[in-house]
Amino acid sequence: MQTHNLGYPRIGGNRELKKACEGYWSGKISLHELQSAGESVRRNNWEVQKEAGIDLIPSNDFSFYDQVLDLSMTVGAIPERYHEVILKKGNNELDLYFAMARGYQKDGLDITAMEMTKWFDTNYHYIVPEFKKDQQFKLFSTKVIQEYIEAKNQGLITKPVLIGPVSFLLLGKEKETGFDRIDLIKNILPVYLEVLKKLEDNHVEWVQFDEPFLAMDLNDKEKDALVYTYGEIRKAFPDLKILLANYFDCFGANLKTALSLPVDTFHLDLVRCPSQLDDILESGLLKKRKSLSLGLVDGRNIWKNDYLKSQKLIEKAINAIGSDRIFIAPSCSLLHAPIDLELEDEKGLSAEVKDWLAFAKQKLQEVKELGTLTEEKLAKNQASIQSRNKSKLIHKNEVKERIAGLPESIDQRKSPFSIRQQKQKMALNLPLFPTTTIGSFPQTTEVRSWRAKFKKGVLSKSQYNKNLESETIKAIQWQEAIGLDVLVHGEFERNDMVEYFGEQLDGFLFTKNGWVQSYGSRCVKPPIIYGDVSRPSKMTVDWTSFAQSQTEKLVKGMLTGPVTILQWSFVRDDQPRKDTCNQIALAIRDEVIDLEKAGIKIIQIDEPAIREGLPLRKSDWQSYLDWAVKAFRISASGVQDETQIHTHMCYSEFNDIIENIAAMDADVITIECSRSQMELLDAFGEFNYPNEIGPGVYDIHSPRVPARNEMYALLEKAVQVIPESQLWVNPDCGLKTRGWEETKSALIEMVSAAKLLRESI
Ligand code: GLN
Ligand code: ZN
Repeated sequence: MQTHNLGYPRIGGNRELKKACEGYWSGKISLHELQSAGESVRRNNWEVQKEAGIDLIPSNDFSFYDQVLDLSMTVGAIPERYHEVILKKGNNELDLYFAMARGYQKDGLDITAMEMTKWFDTNYHYIVPEFKKDQQFKLFSTKVIQEYIEAKNQGLITKPVLIGPVSFLLLGKEKETGFDRIDLIKNILPVYLEVLKKLEDNHVEWVQFDEPFLAMDLNDKEKDALVYTYGEIRKAFPDLKILLANYFDCFGANLKTALSLPVDTFHLDLVRCPSQLDDILESGLLKKRKSLSLGLVDGRNIWKNDYLKSQKLIEKAINAIGSDRIFIAPSCSLLHAPIDLELEDEKGLSAEVKDWLAFAKQKLQEVKELGTLTEEKLAKNQASIQSRNKSKLIHKNEVKERIAGLPESIDQRKSPFSIRQQKQKMALNLPLFPTTTIGSFPQTTEVRSWRAKFKKGVLSKSQYNKNLESETIKAIQWQEAIGLDVLVHGEFERNDMVEYFGEQLDGFLFTKNGWVQSYGSRCVKPPIIYGDVSRPSKMTVDWTSFAQSQTEKLVKGMLTGPVTILQWSFVRDDQPRKDTCNQIALAIRDEVIDLEKAGIKIIQIDEPAIREGLPLRKSDWQSYLDWAVKAFRISASGVQDETQIHTHMCYSEFNDIIENIAAMDADVITIECSRSQMELLDAFGEFNYPNEIGPGVYDIHSPRVPARNEMYALLEKAVQVIPESQLWVNPDCGLKTRGWEETKSALIEMVSAAKLLRESI
């Protein structure tokens, strides 16, 4: 059996790449320094994988921002509006690349960023390719070839990874009507062939094509495109070894098409879908000499692999097709896992718990060990697995009993929305088109340095709190001054919207360095939910009350919802996700009730992750949505009618789940809309969404400051779709990643856009 890996995290063990990118963006480091930071991450990654003894090591899994954007650059899918960037003096290919990712506002140019959306059901975000009718493609960036040669120069023949052309097209978006982007397959394929030719000239042996759309519902045309694509590639390169990777689910109804493709190896995600191995072996569709890559080690979670379970699958495969037709691998790219458990010290993670876990580097070891499993290694592994199953750290009777005894009505508000709305209008007395923000304000270097010093013990708790208080007071005064209607406290005390809650809840644990890339240079450090969840004491009431005590205006309480906490954590795999979610929902519900008791009249429960939790296949959606919506309702329904519950979601398309969004029954929902030019709002309009909505009027992922009239134009569009009395005005999302200067300018413009709209009515 051989071993291989599908991709390795590229942020660097100490987030070196994040720091280098941000340094380059702010002009602190040169292009050369950025390049060498990238090079050293790549060299290190290759070495780690080589040392672990992995047979086939990937290249082109590195990226300065996003692998989908890399491919847009490769095939020259560069929207026209960026063409000028490269012409500006001193600019290079990477400046163009970053302009597409982040927008560009200098040298007299003002260009918005490309859209960004979730990578399947993960918390990774990619830059959405843009396609036009009859679009022509042309090899532009040769990154994939360069990186292959770079590794080769270091003595390593790698397996370049490319997103397959069918998935690439499907990941993108049609920017004009009258065509289907899958029809571009004939135009794009020649560029792939050109890349393969160049790789072949450099003696490439294996190429990995990721076609994760094989785990989604495909129509006939899309299936035909797959058959056409891989048929053409095979015709042009009869000797090239091709590994076709599918992950996050099984082939489902695409099984027959997939197995008919003229590739050498099919990669299967046996973590998400272990039963597919039987399906494939029994189908009789796997042709002779084709091999299977068994994705056994979970690329998306942090639990140690259960070797006994894996061994059963391996044996089954060996018995059916023989060991020389088998590869052992992680289930998907390790991009979604933190890098190295050894970077965690005993203070953070007890030895008992550490023994249950494996991060990317350890997962490589697991892949290797599974390839050559000995009795001794198996026994050692099983001891860890047993220790976790039986641990007293995990099970809490009070929590299990409370869940078991919940009344049927636990998710019901007292009255329906129409009644609540009247009562809230009376109680809150807000103007038409109320303005607000989504919660966080800039987490400046200073704010972050206080937290770092406090955690190190260099800054006392009281001094830390004093600093945060003064930051909060400044934010409140400033919001008052510019005339926002509903204020927020700014979330200065929070490192991350999930971690902050996880740290205060029982059942969670934390790593020091377990970072995972979310988008671009943004990384998150997901908590690990290892046991039953409960809330030992109030979590946000002090800060919210403090902020409210500083102003006559309304301050909105700010919580993270149960589905998002679940979705953005590494979740225990020993009980259904739904059960864990309900435990979190009760903890948030108690917090909501405590905020109300403390006099807070508006409470936002963020659920940006609802949509990304959707299973990949539509037939599985409703059962997820049922429990997810119910968990949100449980968290939100403990309050009086007068108390206004907000929720917030980012970069989501809502068309197909609008009914479920409505069923969440939040009094107000704020959504990200600006990058799509309010397109995302249409779903709400068409559905006659009954509750109030704040469509985001400006993109917070980019430092670009939108002008009043630009936001006013978006609001005018919104008024076409949403009744006036239901419309709020706010940015797309929280502002923690922005600087103060751009934040202030943008919000001043936003408030004045709302005023203009009020006057125009
Ligand atoms: N309240 C959070 C913030 O403002 C919401 C962030 C999010 O939706 N991702 O940062
Ligand atoms: Zn958001």
